[in-house]
Amino acid sequence: MMRLTVIFTLLLLTSCVSNKLITVEKDTNAVNYANTITAKELKGHLYVFASDKFLGRETGKEGQQIAEKYLVDEFKEIGIEPGNNGSYLQSFEVVEHLRPVATIYVNGREYFNRKQFYFFSSLADFEDTTIQLKDVVDVSYGIENKELNNYKDIIVKDKIVLINVNNPEEVAPEENWNWRRKLALAQEKGAQSVFFIDEYYDQRLEVVSHYLESSTMNLLEDEDKEKGQYIPFYFVNDVLKKELLEAETDIKIDFNFRDVVLETTNVLAYVEGSDSVLKDEVIVITAHYDHIGVEGQDIYNGADDDGTGSVALLELAEAFQLAKKNGNGPKRSILIMPVSGEEKGLLGSKYYTNHPVYPLENTVANLNIDMIGRIDSTHLGDTNYLYLIGSDRISNDLHLISEAVNKAYMKLDLDYTYNKEDDPNKFYYRSDHYNFAKNRVPVIFYFSGVHEDYHKVTDTVDKIIFEKVEKAARLVFYTAWELANREERIKKNAK
Ligand SMILES: [Zn+2]
Repeated sequence: MMRLTVIFTLLLLTSCVSNKLITVEKDTNAVNYANTITAKELKGHLYVFASDKFLGRETGKEGQQIAEKYLVDEFKEIGIEPGNNGSYLQSFEVVEHLRPVATIYVNGREYFNRKQFYFFSSLADFEDTTIQLKDVVDVSYGIENKELNNYKDIIVKDKIVLINVNNPEEVAPEENWNWRRKLALAQEKGAQSVFFIDEYYDQRLEVVSHYLESSTMNLLEDEDKEKGQYIPFYFVNDVLKKELLEAETDIKIDFNFRDVVLETTNVLAYVEGSDSVLKDEVIVITAHYDHIGVEGQDIYNGADDDGTGSVALLELAEAFQLAKKNGNGPKRSILIMPVSGEEKGLLGSKYYTNHPVYPLENTVANLNIDMIGRIDSTHLGDTNYLYLIGSDRISNDLHLISEAVNKAYMKLDLDYTYNKEDDPNKFYYRSDHYNFAKNRVPVIFYFSGVHEDYHKVTDTVDKIIFEKVEKAARLVFYTAWELANREERIKKNAK
Protein backbone atom coordinates (compact mmCIF):
# COMPACT_ATOMS: atom_id res chain seq x y z
CA MET A 1 0.00 0.00 0.00
CA MET A 2 1.28 3.39 -1.00
CA ARG A 3 1.90 6.09 1.60
CA LEU A 4 -0.62 8.93 1.64
CA THR A 5 1.38 11.98 0.53
CA VAL A 6 -0.69 13.70 -2.09
CA ILE A 7 -3.80 15.75 -1.63
CA PHE A 8 -6.30 14.41 -4.07
CA THR A 9 -9.00 16.23 -5.87
CA LEU A 10 -12.09 14.17 -5.43
CA LEU A 11 -14.57 13.62 -8.16
CA LEU A 12 -17.88 12.83 -6.65
CA LEU A 13 -19.62 10.28 -8.77
CA THR A 14 -23.31 9.73 -8.50
CA SER A 15 -23.94 6.06 -8.89
CA CYS A 16 -27.12 4.64 -10.18
CA VAL A 17 -27.78 1.63 -8.02
CA SER A 18 -30.13 -1.04 -9.23
CA ASN A 19 -31.66 -3.55 -6.88
CA LYS A 20 -31.68 -6.46 -9.21
CA LEU A 21 -31.48 -9.87 -7.67
CA ILE A 22 -28.22 -11.67 -8.18
CA THR A 23 -27.81 -15.19 -6.91
CA VAL A 24 -24.79 -17.43 -6.90
CA GLU A 25 -25.06 -21.17 -6.70
CA LYS A 26 -22.37 -23.11 -4.97
CA ASP A 27 -20.21 -24.98 -7.49
CA THR A 28 -18.50 -28.07 -6.06
CA ASN A 29 -15.73 -27.80 -8.65
CA ALA A 30 -14.96 -24.33 -7.38
CA VAL A 31 -14.85 -25.61 -3.81
CA ASN A 32 -12.39 -28.35 -4.73
CA TYR A 33 -9.99 -25.92 -6.40
CA ALA A 34 -10.37 -23.24 -3.74
CA ASN A 35 -9.43 -25.85 -1.14
CA THR A 36 -6.00 -26.16 -2.77
CA ILE A 37 -5.33 -22.63 -1.46
CA THR A 38 -4.02 -23.42 2.00
CA ALA A 39 -2.55 -21.54 4.93
CA LYS A 40 0.28 -24.07 4.96
CA GLU A 41 1.39 -23.37 1.38
CA LEU A 42 0.93 -19.62 1.76
CA LYS A 43 3.16 -19.80 4.81
CA GLY A 44 5.79 -21.82 2.95
CA HIS A 45 5.97 -19.16 0.23
CA LEU A 46 5.91 -16.14 2.51
CA TYR A 47 8.72 -17.37 4.77
CA VAL A 48 10.91 -17.15 1.67
CA PHE A 49 9.34 -14.14 -0.03
CA ALA A 50 9.46 -11.91 3.07
CA SER A 51 12.90 -13.05 4.22
CA ASP A 52 15.95 -10.79 4.49
CA LYS A 53 17.33 -12.39 1.31
CA PHE A 54 14.72 -10.47 -0.67
CA LEU A 55 16.16 -7.15 0.54
CA GLY A 56 12.81 -5.40 0.93
CA ARG A 57 11.98 -5.89 -2.79
CA GLU A 58 12.54 -2.26 -3.78
CA THR A 59 11.51 -1.38 -7.34
CA GLY A 60 14.40 -1.45 -9.81
CA LYS A 61 16.81 -2.84 -7.20
CA GLU A 62 18.32 -6.25 -6.56
CA GLY A 63 15.62 -7.33 -4.08
CA GLN A 64 12.84 -6.75 -6.60
CA GLN A 65 14.73 -8.83 -9.16
CA ILE A 66 15.07 -11.67 -6.67
CA ALA A 67 11.33 -11.50 -5.97
CA GLU A 68 10.57 -11.40 -9.71
CA LYS A 69 12.65 -14.53 -10.27
CA TYR A 70 10.89 -16.32 -7.42
CA LEU A 71 7.48 -15.55 -8.93
CA VAL A 72 8.50 -16.58 -12.46
CA ASP A 73 10.05 -19.83 -11.22
CA GLU A 74 6.90 -20.64 -9.25
CA PHE A 75 4.64 -19.90 -12.22
CA LYS A 76 6.76 -22.21 -14.38
CA GLU A 77 6.56 -24.89 -11.71
CA ILE A 78 2.77 -24.54 -11.58
CA GLY A 79 2.68 -24.86 -15.36
CA ILE A 80 0.60 -21.73 -15.91
CA GLU A 81 1.13 -19.96 -19.26
CA PRO A 82 3.11 -16.73 -19.55
CA GLY A 83 0.80 -13.74 -19.94
CA ASN A 84 2.71 -11.39 -22.21
CA ASN A 85 3.03 -12.93 -25.68
CA GLY A 86 5.20 -15.82 -24.56
CA SER A 87 6.91 -13.96 -21.73
CA TYR A 88 6.12 -13.84 -18.02
CA LEU A 89 7.43 -10.27 -17.87
CA GLN A 90 6.31 -6.84 -18.91
CA SER A 91 9.39 -4.64 -18.56
CA PHE A 92 9.31 -0.89 -18.14
CA GLU A 93 11.63 1.91 -17.15
CA VAL A 94 11.41 4.17 -14.14
CA VAL A 95 13.49 7.19 -13.22
CA GLU A 96 14.80 7.39 -9.70
CA HIS A 97 15.38 10.94 -8.52
CA LEU A 98 18.07 10.75 -5.88
CA ARG A 99 18.04 13.60 -3.43
CA PRO A 100 19.59 16.59 -5.17
CA VAL A 101 22.70 18.42 -4.08
CA ALA A 102 22.32 22.20 -4.28
CA THR A 103 24.37 25.18 -3.14
CA ILE A 104 23.62 28.89 -2.83
CA TYR A 105 26.66 31.20 -3.15
CA VAL A 106 26.29 34.70 -1.72
CA ASN A 107 28.76 37.20 -0.29
CA GLY A 108 31.60 34.72 -0.76
CA ARG A 109 29.94 32.08 1.37
CA GLU A 110 28.29 28.74 0.58
CA TYR A 111 24.91 27.53 1.85
CA PHE A 112 23.65 23.98 1.42
CA ASN A 113 20.44 22.17 0.65
CA ARG A 114 18.69 20.76 3.76
CA LYS A 115 20.92 22.91 5.96
CA GLN A 116 20.28 26.63 5.45
CA PHE A 117 17.63 26.12 2.78
CA TYR A 118 15.47 23.41 1.23
CA PHE A 119 13.22 22.99 -1.76
CA PHE A 120 10.79 20.45 -3.24
CA SER A 121 12.45 19.29 -6.42
CA SER A 122 9.36 17.63 -7.86
CA LEU A 123 7.17 20.74 -7.80
CA ALA A 124 9.16 23.08 -10.05
CA ASP A 125 11.90 23.06 -12.69
CA PHE A 126 15.12 24.02 -10.97
CA GLU A 127 18.22 24.88 -12.92
CA ASP A 128 21.52 26.64 -12.23
CA THR A 129 20.94 30.40 -11.95
CA THR A 130 22.68 33.64 -11.21
CA ILE A 131 20.50 36.23 -9.54
CA GLN A 132 21.37 39.89 -9.91
CA LEU A 133 20.91 42.05 -6.84
CA LYS A 134 18.65 44.54 -8.60
CA ASP A 135 16.15 41.75 -9.23
CA VAL A 136 15.54 40.90 -5.56
CA VAL A 137 12.44 42.42 -3.92
CA ASP A 138 11.05 41.94 -0.45
CA VAL A 139 7.24 41.87 -0.42
CA SER A 140 6.84 41.10 3.27
CA TYR A 141 3.94 38.67 3.78
CA GLY A 142 3.15 38.43 0.10
CA ILE A 143 -0.60 38.50 0.49
CA GLU A 144 -3.52 40.57 -0.73
CA ASN A 145 -5.72 41.54 2.14
CA LYS A 146 -7.61 44.80 2.78
CA GLU A 147 -5.33 45.99 5.58
CA LEU A 148 -2.12 44.53 4.29
CA ASN A 149 -2.06 44.95 0.56
CA ASN A 150 1.69 44.99 0.39
CA TYR A 151 1.87 44.10 -3.28
CA LYS A 152 0.15 47.26 -4.47
CA ASP A 153 3.12 49.43 -5.34
CA ILE A 154 5.73 46.74 -5.92
CA ILE A 155 6.57 45.40 -9.33
CA VAL A 156 7.39 41.74 -9.05
CA LYS A 157 7.35 40.81 -12.71
CA ASP A 158 10.56 38.86 -13.52
CA LYS A 159 11.81 39.51 -9.97
CA ILE A 160 13.11 37.25 -7.26
CA VAL A 161 10.65 37.72 -4.44
CA LEU A 162 11.28 37.36 -0.70
CA ILE A 163 8.13 36.40 1.18
CA ASN A 164 7.53 35.80 4.87
CA VAL A 165 5.84 32.40 4.94
CA ASN A 166 4.09 33.18 8.24
CA ASN A 167 1.33 35.75 8.77
CA PRO A 168 0.68 38.58 11.24
CA GLU A 169 -2.22 38.35 13.68
CA GLU A 170 -4.49 40.55 11.56
CA VAL A 171 -4.68 37.80 8.97
CA ALA A 172 -7.34 35.34 10.01
CA PRO A 173 -6.45 31.66 9.62
CA GLU A 174 -9.57 31.08 7.50
CA GLU A 175 -8.13 33.36 4.82
CA ASN A 176 -5.78 30.44 4.30
CA TRP A 177 -2.68 32.38 3.26
CA ASN A 178 -0.39 29.36 3.32
CA TRP A 179 2.76 29.06 1.19
CA ARG A 180 0.98 27.45 -1.71
CA ARG A 181 -1.42 30.37 -2.01
CA LYS A 182 1.37 32.93 -1.65
CA LEU A 183 3.42 31.14 -4.24
CA ALA A 184 0.53 30.95 -6.67
CA LEU A 185 -0.10 34.69 -6.28
CA ALA A 186 3.56 35.59 -6.88
CA GLN A 187 3.55 33.33 -9.90
CA GLU A 188 0.39 34.97 -11.22
CA LYS A 189 2.09 38.35 -10.90
CA GLY A 190 4.98 37.14 -13.03
CA ALA A 191 7.69 36.58 -10.39
CA GLN A 192 10.70 34.56 -11.51
CA SER A 193 11.23 32.69 -8.25
CA VAL A 194 10.36 32.91 -4.55
CA PHE A 195 12.42 32.70 -1.36
CA PHE A 196 10.23 31.92 1.64
CA ILE A 197 11.56 33.32 4.88
CA ASP A 198 10.48 31.27 7.86
CA GLU A 199 11.07 32.09 11.50
CA TYR A 200 10.08 28.49 12.33
CA TYR A 201 12.50 27.14 9.75
CA ASP A 202 14.13 24.51 11.97
CA GLN A 203 10.84 22.98 13.09
CA ARG A 204 9.46 22.90 9.57
CA LEU A 205 12.60 21.35 8.16
CA GLU A 206 12.31 18.64 10.78
CA VAL A 207 8.74 17.88 9.66
CA VAL A 208 9.59 17.53 5.97
CA SER A 209 13.06 16.04 6.37
CA HIS A 210 12.04 12.42 5.76
CA TYR A 211 10.41 13.49 2.53
CA LEU A 212 13.46 15.52 1.47
CA GLU A 213 15.85 12.68 2.29
CA SER A 214 14.13 9.94 0.32
CA SER A 215 14.36 9.45 -3.40
CA THR A 216 11.27 9.47 -5.59
CA MET A 217 10.40 7.50 -8.71
CA ASN A 218 8.37 8.12 -11.79
CA LEU A 219 7.63 6.25 -15.01
CA LEU A 220 10.24 7.30 -17.57
CA GLU A 221 7.47 7.96 -20.09
CA ASP A 222 5.81 10.42 -17.65
CA GLU A 223 8.96 12.39 -16.86
CA ASP A 224 8.21 15.44 -18.94
CA LYS A 225 4.51 15.52 -18.26
CA GLU A 226 4.64 15.89 -14.51
CA LYS A 227 7.13 18.67 -13.86
CA GLY A 228 7.08 22.38 -13.34
CA GLN A 229 3.80 23.07 -11.59
CA TYR A 230 5.34 26.15 -9.91
CA ILE A 231 8.10 28.69 -10.46
CA PRO A 232 11.25 27.74 -8.48
CA PHE A 233 10.82 28.35 -4.73
CA TYR A 234 12.99 27.85 -1.67
CA PHE A 235 12.59 27.95 2.10
CA VAL A 236 15.52 29.71 3.80
CA ASN A 237 16.59 30.11 7.40
CA ASP A 238 17.38 33.40 9.19
CA VAL A 239 21.09 33.31 8.42
CA LEU A 240 20.58 32.96 4.70
CA LYS A 241 17.74 35.48 4.75
CA LYS A 242 20.13 38.07 6.22
CA GLU A 243 22.72 37.31 3.57
CA LEU A 244 20.15 37.67 0.82
CA LEU A 245 18.87 41.00 2.17
CA GLU A 246 22.40 42.35 2.61
CA ALA A 247 23.91 40.81 -0.50
CA GLU A 248 26.73 42.76 -2.07
CA THR A 249 27.40 40.31 -4.83
CA ASP A 250 25.26 38.39 -7.29
CA ILE A 251 23.68 35.25 -5.91
CA LYS A 252 24.48 31.96 -7.57
CA ILE A 253 22.54 28.74 -7.19
CA ASP A 254 23.95 25.45 -8.45
CA PHE A 255 22.04 22.19 -8.66
CA ASN A 256 23.24 18.68 -9.08
CA PHE A 257 20.29 16.44 -9.85
CA ARG A 258 21.08 12.79 -9.89
CA ASP A 259 18.55 10.85 -11.93
CA VAL A 260 18.99 7.15 -12.53
CA VAL A 261 16.98 5.14 -15.04
CA LEU A 262 16.12 1.67 -13.74
CA GLU A 263 14.38 -1.26 -15.30
CA THR A 264 11.60 -3.10 -13.54
CA THR A 265 8.76 -5.48 -14.37
CA ASN A 266 5.22 -6.66 -13.94
CA VAL A 267 4.91 -10.45 -13.88
CA LEU A 268 2.07 -11.96 -15.92
CA ALA A 269 0.60 -15.45 -15.73
CA TYR A 270 -2.42 -16.43 -17.79
CA VAL A 271 -5.17 -18.99 -17.91
CA GLU A 272 -6.93 -18.80 -21.24
CA GLY A 273 -10.70 -19.12 -21.04
CA SER A 274 -12.32 -22.34 -22.20
CA ASP A 275 -15.21 -20.69 -24.08
CA SER A 276 -14.28 -19.78 -27.66
CA VAL A 277 -16.14 -16.44 -27.46
CA LEU A 278 -15.88 -15.49 -23.79
CA LYS A 279 -12.13 -16.16 -23.60
CA ASP A 280 -11.51 -12.72 -25.08
CA GLU A 281 -12.81 -11.26 -21.83
CA VAL A 282 -10.35 -11.26 -18.96
CA ILE A 283 -10.43 -10.91 -15.18
CA VAL A 284 -7.19 -9.37 -13.89
CA ILE A 285 -6.04 -10.29 -10.38
CA THR A 286 -3.24 -8.12 -8.98
CA ALA A 287 -1.05 -7.64 -5.92
CA HIS A 288 2.15 -5.62 -5.71
CA TYR A 289 5.32 -7.63 -5.22
CA ASP A 290 7.58 -4.62 -4.52
CA HIS A 291 8.14 -3.01 -1.13
CA ILE A 292 10.29 -0.18 0.22
CA GLY A 293 13.73 -1.81 0.32
CA VAL A 294 16.60 -1.27 2.71
CA GLU A 295 17.59 1.71 4.87
CA GLY A 296 21.05 1.44 6.37
CA GLN A 297 21.07 -1.85 8.29
CA ASP A 298 17.30 -2.18 8.23
CA ILE A 299 15.60 -4.50 5.77
CA TYR A 300 11.90 -3.82 5.26
CA ASN A 301 10.48 -7.30 4.70
CA GLY A 302 6.95 -6.13 3.92
CA ALA A 303 5.47 -9.46 4.99
CA ASP A 304 1.93 -8.08 5.08
CA ASP A 305 2.58 -5.23 2.58
CA ASP A 306 2.28 -6.91 0.19
CA GLY A 307 3.98 -10.23 0.68
CA THR A 308 0.57 -11.64 1.61
CA GLY A 309 -1.01 -10.51 -1.67
CA SER A 310 1.94 -11.77 -3.70
CA VAL A 311 1.88 -15.28 -2.29
CA ALA A 312 -1.91 -15.34 -2.55
CA LEU A 313 -1.45 -14.84 -6.31
CA LEU A 314 0.77 -17.92 -6.45
CA GLU A 315 -1.92 -20.00 -4.80
CA LEU A 316 -4.63 -18.53 -7.04
CA ALA A 317 -2.52 -19.35 -10.10
CA GLU A 318 -2.12 -22.92 -8.91
CA ALA A 319 -5.86 -23.34 -8.30
CA PHE A 320 -6.92 -21.93 -11.68
CA GLN A 321 -4.23 -23.87 -13.54
CA LEU A 322 -5.29 -27.12 -11.87
CA ALA A 323 -8.90 -26.46 -12.89
CA LYS A 324 -7.80 -25.92 -16.45
CA LYS A 325 -5.65 -29.04 -16.47
CA ASN A 326 -8.62 -31.09 -15.27
CA GLY A 327 -10.80 -29.74 -18.06
CA ASN A 328 -12.75 -27.47 -15.71
CA GLY A 329 -11.05 -24.17 -16.60
CA PRO A 330 -13.02 -20.93 -16.38
CA LYS A 331 -14.93 -19.73 -19.46
CA ARG A 332 -13.37 -16.27 -19.44
CA SER A 333 -9.62 -15.77 -19.18
CA ILE A 334 -7.75 -15.01 -15.97
CA LEU A 335 -4.64 -12.83 -15.83
CA ILE A 336 -2.69 -13.10 -12.59
CA MET A 337 -0.32 -10.17 -12.35
CA PRO A 338 2.07 -9.32 -9.53
CA VAL A 339 3.06 -5.70 -10.27
CA SER A 340 6.00 -3.60 -9.10
CA GLY A 341 6.44 0.12 -8.51
CA GLU A 342 3.41 0.30 -6.22
CA GLU A 343 5.19 1.85 -3.26
CA LYS A 344 6.68 4.50 -5.59
CA GLY A 345 3.29 5.70 -6.78
CA LEU A 346 1.35 2.77 -8.29
CA LEU A 347 3.81 2.75 -11.21
CA GLY A 348 3.51 -0.87 -12.37
CA SER A 349 -0.27 -0.84 -12.63
CA LYS A 350 -0.08 2.58 -14.26
CA TYR A 351 2.32 1.23 -16.85
CA TYR A 352 0.12 -1.80 -17.46
CA THR A 353 -3.06 0.25 -17.91
CA ASN A 354 -1.15 2.59 -20.25
CA HIS A 355 0.10 -0.45 -22.19
CA PRO A 356 -2.44 -3.21 -21.56
CA VAL A 357 -1.57 -6.62 -22.94
CA TYR A 358 -5.31 -7.44 -23.02
CA PRO A 359 -7.52 -4.52 -24.10
CA LEU A 360 -9.05 -2.67 -21.16
CA GLU A 361 -12.45 -2.70 -22.88
CA ASN A 362 -12.30 -6.52 -22.65
CA THR A 363 -11.20 -6.41 -19.03
CA VAL A 364 -14.21 -7.43 -16.96
CA ALA A 365 -12.80 -6.51 -13.56
CA ASN A 366 -9.65 -6.06 -11.52
CA LEU A 367 -9.48 -7.80 -8.15
CA ASN A 368 -6.57 -6.34 -6.19
CA ILE A 369 -5.09 -7.76 -3.01
CA ASP A 370 -2.92 -5.56 -0.77
CA MET A 371 -2.26 -6.47 2.89
CA ILE A 372 -4.53 -9.35 3.95
CA GLY A 373 -2.54 -10.96 6.75
CA ARG A 374 -3.08 -8.96 9.91
CA ILE A 375 -5.94 -8.05 12.23
CA ASP A 376 -6.62 -4.40 12.93
CA SER A 377 -7.51 -2.82 16.26
CA THR A 378 -11.24 -2.71 15.58
CA HIS A 379 -11.44 -6.48 14.94
CA LEU A 380 -9.20 -7.90 17.68
CA GLY A 381 -9.25 -11.70 17.73
CA ASP A 382 -11.43 -11.91 14.61
CA THR A 383 -10.05 -13.70 11.53
CA ASN A 384 -13.37 -13.64 9.75
CA TYR A 385 -13.56 -10.04 8.54
CA LEU A 386 -12.20 -8.34 5.43
CA TYR A 387 -12.39 -4.79 4.13
CA LEU A 388 -13.69 -4.46 0.59
CA ILE A 389 -13.18 -1.15 -1.16
CA GLY A 390 -14.55 0.09 -4.47
CA SER A 391 -16.81 -2.86 -5.33
CA ASP A 392 -19.90 -0.74 -6.07
CA ARG A 393 -18.26 2.35 -7.55
CA ILE A 394 -18.11 1.35 -11.20
CA SER A 395 -20.31 -1.71 -11.35
CA ASN A 396 -23.04 -2.45 -8.86
CA ASP A 397 -23.33 -5.88 -10.50
CA LEU A 398 -19.81 -6.57 -9.28
CA HIS A 399 -20.76 -5.57 -5.75
CA LEU A 400 -23.85 -7.79 -5.76
CA ILE A 401 -21.93 -10.76 -7.17
CA SER A 402 -19.16 -10.27 -4.65
CA GLU A 403 -21.72 -10.27 -1.82
CA ALA A 404 -23.55 -13.30 -3.19
CA VAL A 405 -20.29 -15.22 -3.66
CA ASN A 406 -19.32 -14.51 -0.10
CA LYS A 407 -22.71 -15.66 1.14
CA ALA A 408 -22.56 -18.89 -0.87
CA TYR A 409 -19.00 -19.89 0.00
CA MET A 410 -17.13 -17.97 2.69
CA LYS A 411 -19.54 -16.04 4.93
CA LEU A 412 -16.87 -13.51 5.90
CA ASP A 413 -17.88 -10.30 7.61
CA LEU A 414 -17.30 -7.85 4.74
CA ASP A 415 -16.57 -4.40 6.08
CA TYR A 416 -17.18 -1.36 3.82
CA THR A 417 -15.95 1.32 6.24
CA TYR A 418 -13.14 2.40 3.92
CA ASN A 419 -15.33 2.46 0.86
CA LYS A 420 -17.01 5.70 1.97
CA GLU A 421 -16.32 8.58 -0.41
CA ASP A 422 -15.22 10.83 2.45
CA ASP A 423 -12.92 8.30 4.14
CA PRO A 424 -9.91 10.36 5.27
CA ASN A 425 -7.46 7.49 4.62
CA LYS A 426 -8.30 7.55 0.90
CA PHE A 427 -7.45 3.86 0.51
CA TYR A 428 -9.44 3.75 -2.73
CA TYR A 429 -6.66 5.83 -4.32
CA ARG A 430 -3.72 4.07 -2.70
CA SER A 431 -3.28 0.70 -4.33
CA ASP A 432 -3.09 -0.70 -7.84
CA HIS A 433 -6.79 -1.23 -8.53
CA TYR A 434 -7.05 2.57 -8.75
CA ASN A 435 -5.29 2.66 -12.13
CA PHE A 436 -7.91 0.23 -13.45
CA ALA A 437 -10.73 2.23 -11.84
CA LYS A 438 -9.40 5.40 -13.49
CA ASN A 439 -9.96 3.60 -16.79
CA ARG A 440 -13.50 2.58 -15.78
CA VAL A 441 -12.63 -1.05 -15.18
CA PRO A 442 -14.74 -2.33 -12.23
CA VAL A 443 -12.56 -3.10 -9.21
CA ILE A 444 -12.52 -4.64 -5.77
CA PHE A 445 -9.69 -3.94 -3.35
CA TYR A 446 -9.25 -6.61 -0.61
CA PHE A 447 -7.57 -5.42 2.57
CA SER A 448 -7.38 -6.46 6.23
CA GLY A 449 -6.65 -2.99 7.61
CA VAL A 450 -3.75 -1.00 8.99
CA HIS A 451 -1.54 -1.93 11.93
CA GLU A 452 1.36 -0.50 13.91
CA ASP A 453 3.95 -2.21 11.68
CA TYR A 454 2.77 -0.57 8.45
CA HIS A 455 5.89 0.53 6.47
CA LYS A 456 8.16 -0.38 9.39
CA VAL A 457 10.94 -2.94 9.67
CA THR A 458 8.64 -4.79 12.05
CA ASP A 459 6.24 -5.85 9.26
CA THR A 460 7.60 -9.38 9.53
CA VAL A 461 6.36 -12.83 8.61
CA ASP A 462 6.04 -14.14 12.17
CA LYS A 463 3.12 -11.73 12.70
CA ILE A 464 1.09 -12.97 9.75
CA ILE A 465 -2.15 -14.82 10.44
CA PHE A 466 -2.16 -17.35 7.61
CA GLU A 467 -5.69 -18.53 8.33
CA LYS A 468 -6.76 -15.01 7.41
CA VAL A 469 -4.68 -14.92 4.21
CA GLU A 470 -6.22 -18.25 3.20
CA LYS A 471 -9.78 -16.98 3.73
CA ALA A 472 -9.18 -13.78 1.79
CA ALA A 473 -7.44 -15.61 -1.08
CA ARG A 474 -10.28 -18.12 -1.30
CA LEU A 475 -12.85 -15.32 -1.43
CA VAL A 476 -10.90 -13.73 -4.31
CA PHE A 477 -10.75 -17.13 -6.03
CA TYR A 478 -14.52 -17.68 -5.77
CA THR A 479 -15.27 -14.15 -6.94
CA ALA A 480 -12.98 -14.48 -9.97
CA TRP A 481 -14.41 -17.94 -10.69
CA GLU A 482 -17.95 -16.57 -10.67
CA LEU A 483 -17.06 -13.52 -12.81
CA ALA A 484 -15.30 -15.79 -15.30
CA ASN A 485 -18.08 -18.35 -15.59
CA ARG A 486 -21.29 -16.29 -15.50
CA GLU A 487 -23.26 -16.19 -18.70
CA GLU A 488 -23.49 -12.42 -18.73
CA ARG A 489 -20.60 -10.02 -18.33
CA ILE A 490 -21.13 -7.58 -15.43
CA LYS A 491 -22.54 -4.20 -16.42
CA LYS A 492 -21.09 -0.84 -15.51
CA ASN A 493 -23.15 1.80 -13.73
CA ALA A 494 -24.39 4.79 -15.68
CA LYS A 495 -21.83 7.58 -15.35
ZN1 LIG B 1 2.99 -0.12 1.21
